[in-house]
Amino acid sequence: MPHSHTITSFVGLQKHRVVRWKRHHKSWIELWLAYDGATYRCSGCGQGFRRYYDRLWMRLRDLDISRHRVYVWVPRYRVRCPQCGVRRVDSGVARRRARCTRRFERWLFRLTNGMTVKEVSNLTGVDWEAVKGAESRYILGLLRKRDLTGITDLGIDEVSEKKGHRYLTLVTDTVKRRVVWVGRGRDRAVLRTFFRWFGKQRTRRIRCVVIDMHDPYELEIRERCPRAALIYDHFHVIKPLSMAIDDIRRRLQRELPPAGRLYLKGSRYLLLRNRENLTAKQRIRLQDLLRLPANETLNAAYILKEDLRVAFRRQDPKRARAELRDWKRRVRESKIPELLKYVEMLDRRRFGILNFFKHRKTNGLSEGFNNVVKTIKKDAYGFHDWEYFRLKILRKCGRLEEASSQRD
Ligand SMILES: [Zn+2]
Repeated sequence: MPHSHTITSFVGLQKHRVVRWKRHHKSWIELWLAYDGATYRCSGCGQGFRRYYDRLWMRLRDLDISRHRVYVWVPRYRVRCPQCGVRRVDSGVARRRARCTRRFERWLFRLTNGMTVKEVSNLTGVDWEAVKGAESRYILGLLRKRDLTGITDLGIDEVSEKKGHRYLTLVTDTVKRRVVWVGRGRDRAVLRTFFRWFGKQRTRRIRCVVIDMHDPYELEIRERCPRAALIYDHFHVIKPLSMAIDDIRRRLQRELPPAGRLYLKGSRYLLLRNRENLTAKQRIRLQDLLRLPANETLNAAYILKEDLRVAFRRQDPKRARAELRDWKRRVRESKIPELLKYVEMLDRRRFGILNFFKHRKTNGLSEGFNNVVKTIKKDAYGFHDWEYFRLKILRKCGRLEEASSQRD
């Protein structure tokens, strides 16, 4: 058997000494620790005492040693403090009421970065509630430490929690590319909750907010930070145009005689995809399709769609504005009803679009966040715990762990 001093040195729990140990069935070890400090400090006021009032032995899970699971018996002391009465002494080894040591909790937290709660639970033999609890507490700690001063640019995204229904609102700091807040739903009240949490002082510093064209968001932002530039995310501006093209395709398909409908079969994908994302073969197919006399309208609409995308890529705001004006004129001349409706929408939302040309800010992160949320949802395997879900999103998209280095 190794000397107790040796074990103490590699078990290394602060201010504690290993006084006894036992190995069970080659698979787990129990260690008894004694407090090595000179004083017992009242957790209420911090005053030190020479003697303790009473103690209780706690059995806590600690980090494994080789292939052995380790349980430590740690005394939990109380002191009789003249000021506070009978108070517990904070040992530093574990949190109050925890069933494992602090460093074991930190270990669990690190494992949950790449594994699901269930996987960590299987690996460590700790029940999943405890794993989840450890992770949640750590995330909360990181959230308290994060720096939210100096945020000037916000992005507000809606993400669907389930396909097509149940939405989340993510507020991002677009400069530091991190999610700072997650709310449930996508109505005005959700955003109001955000601004209340964010505080008036920080809100006053907001210079611009990128949103999709979702009215409840817009109304609330105009009220809370009226001086900030409201910018429409250009992806969301173009998207309804793609939908309009699809509407045209469907209308034509209805109008064509049955024989002609064949031409449009399988064309949806080709039309909706951005041109640069098509393969050479697909481009040729699309070209052949659009060249057909029956598809003249569709061809005109498609060219208009690609031209608008070019206009949105212009770096010079003046040129972009001129191209947009010209584009609208061409649409009016084309008299394609679906596109006219789209132009109406653009006119109604002129300011957010012109602001985009001026500031060129987008919610480019939004797609990535969408995928992360879906993955988290999948990993959460059935327990509907909104708070945990929220924390997990902030952990994965909030860049919490970059600033604080994690050590055991
Ligand atoms: Zn005290």
